[in-house]
Amino acid sequence: MTTTALPTYEDAVSRYEPVIGLETHVELGTATKMFCGCRTDFGAEPNTQVCPVCLGLPGALPVANRAGIEATIRIGLALNCDIAEWCRMARKNYFYPDMPKNFQTSQYDEPLCVDGYVDVEVDGKQYRIGIERVHLEEDTGKSLHVGGATGRIHGATESLVDYNRAGIPLVEIVTKPVPGLGALAPEVAKAYVAELRDIIRSLGVSDVRMEQGSLRCDVNTSLNKPGEEWGTRTETKNVNSLRSVERAVRSEIIRQTSLLDVGTRIFQETRHFQETTGDTRSGRSKETATDYRYFPEPDLVPIAPDKAWVAELKAALPEKPSSKRARLREDWGISATDMESVANAGAVELIEETIAAGASPAGARKWWMGELARRANETGVELAAVGATPAQVAALQKLVDEGKLNDKLARQVLEGVVEGEGDPAAVMAARGLGVVSDTGALTKAVDEAIAANPDIAAKVRDGKVAAAGALVGAVMKTTRGQADAKTVRDLILERLGAS
Ligand SMILES: [Zn+2]
Repeated sequence: MTTTALPTYEDAVSRYEPVIGLETHVELGTATKMFCGCRTDFGAEPNTQVCPVCLGLPGALPVANRAGIEATIRIGLALNCDIAEWCRMARKNYFYPDMPKNFQTSQYDEPLCVDGYVDVEVDGKQYRIGIERVHLEEDTGKSLHVGGATGRIHGATESLVDYNRAGIPLVEIVTKPVPGLGALAPEVAKAYVAELRDIIRSLGVSDVRMEQGSLRCDVNTSLNKPGEEWGTRTETKNVNSLRSVERAVRSEIIRQTSLLDVGTRIFQETRHFQETTGDTRSGRSKETATDYRYFPEPDLVPIAPDKAWVAELKAALPEKPSSKRARLREDWGISATDMESVANAGAVELIEETIAAGASPAGARKWWMGELARRANETGVELAAVGATPAQVAALQKLVDEGKLNDKLARQVLEGVVEGEGDPAAVMAARGLGVVSDTGALTKAVDEAIAANPDIAAKVRDGKVAAAGALVGAVMKTTRGQADAKTVRDLILERLGAS
C-alpha cells in the first residue's frame, strides 16, 4: 500500500459532497429493566442485577415494562414522529458473549415511532434533520478484557462479562440520510446530537450522559462527486462526546477522499473512533439485516398504544429546548450567538439553576462559560460533571457581589470548590482567602507602600492622582491580592492629602 499525504478538509469538501446519518442509542432511566424486574442502578457489583429472564435461561418469559414504552413514545412525540397504533418487538439474532440470550429483543420492520424531524441551528441557519424511526430495544451486557495494553480483546489474557446492563431499555433513534450540508456536515452532526440530548434530557427519561454511555452515537458518512449517486457509507461506532461527533465526521470525510482520489472502493464497514488521534480504525465488516435473521418475538404481546393515552402524553410534553432557549435569551439579555455557545457548552440548565439559586444572569453565565468551561475543556469532562454545582456558583457570585471576594480571589475559591474542598465559604475559610476592606488593617500596608515609594508619593501629593495606581499595586502585592482595591486607593489619597 502506498502512503500519500492526506488531503486537507477544505480540499475534500470542495470536491466531494458528504451525506451523513446518525444512529443514537439512549439508555432509559427506568427503575427496572425492559423485560424483567431487575434493578438498573449504575455501578452496582457485577452480575448482581440479573435474573433468569435477562440471563436468557430456558423457560424464562419476558414481560414488557410499561415505563419503557411510555418513555419511547414521549421521545417519538418530542421528535415529531407518528406513533404506531400497533407494532411488535423482534428478535435480532447475533452471537456475542455479552448477549446471554444469543439474540437482542429489538424492533425491525415495525418500529414504535416513525417519520419525525429535529431542527438544529448552526451559524444562525436552520437545518431540518429527518428522523426515520425511533424504536425500543434492550441493552447488552458489558465485556471487560484484562491483560492487554489497550483494554481490547487483542492481547488480553482474560475476558470477563457483566450482565447488569443486559436488558436495560434502550431507545434507538435513526435519522434519514442528510445530504446537502457540504463543509458544515460535521458541525450539523454535532448540533443534532446536542439538540437530541437536550430534548431527551428535558423529558426526564434518561440522564443522557455521553461519558457514562447512556447516550451513544454511531455516525454514518459517505461521499459522492457532485451530481453522482451517493457513495458507500461507513459507520463509526460509539462516538462518546459531542466534540468527537464532529471530529469523527471530519476525519472520515478526509479518509474517504484520500481513497476515492486514487480509485479505491469504500467498503461498507464498521469503524471505531480513536479518541487519542481523532481518526477512525477499521472494525468488522458491517452486517446486513439478513445476517441478523430478524423475526417477530413470539414471547411478547404486540404493543398497541391507546390513542387517548398518546394524545395525553403529547399534551403533557415539556417546553421544547429550542423555545426555552429563545425565552431564556430574552430573560438573560444575550445575543443569539452567545446563546448558541451556552447551549453548545451544555450550560443552559446549569446557568438557569444558578440564577434560580440567586445569581444574576451575567454573574451565572460568567463562571459557567469562563472559568468552569475552560476547566471542563482542559480535563475533557462535560460541564455538568466539572465539580461545581449551580448552588455553589451562586454562593460564589454572592460573595463577589458582597465585596468579600474580588475576581482573582473568587477564581481561587472556585478552584477549591472544583477540587472538592467544599462550598465557597468553606474554601474561603480553609484557604484563608477573602478581601480585606478593614481600613485599620490596610492603613499599615498603605503607609509602608508610601514610605517605600517616596517619589511616587510626592507626585500624588502634587496632584498627579493617576500615579496612585502604582501604590495601589504595591499594597495589593503585599496583601497577596486580598485587599479591596477601591478602599486601598481611597486610603492612599487620604493619607497623601490628595482626596
Ligand atoms: Zn432480570
